[in-house]
Amino acid sequence: MEWEKLPNGKWRPKKHFKKTADGKYEWDDPRYMKIRDEKMKKIVLFCEYCRDYYTLLEPCVHHLPDNYRNQKIKEEAYKQLRYKQIRNQEID
Ligand SMILES: [Zn+2]
Repeated sequence: MEWEKLPNGKWRPKKHFKKTADGKYEWDDPRYMKIRDEKMKKIVLFCEYCRDYYTLLEPCVHHLPDNYRNQKIKEEAYKQLRYKQIRNQEID
């Protein structure tokens, strides 16, 4: 059996990906993920809060998809933003 090392340092039996019956890749197939990332990298959007551009692959904090991990990042960002605003008020 072949083994592969995961990012967390653990090992698991190597998965052999094959296309599904309708000719598509499985969602966790590295080839599929690469194609998906390439597509998302090409989609460039403008964020009016940042006044800057972001891609779907690396969205700014205002445009993260909703999930638990992103929720934490958002909360952290807004906390820092509020802190900055408070400090600015004190300076004024
Ligand atoms: Zn933004």
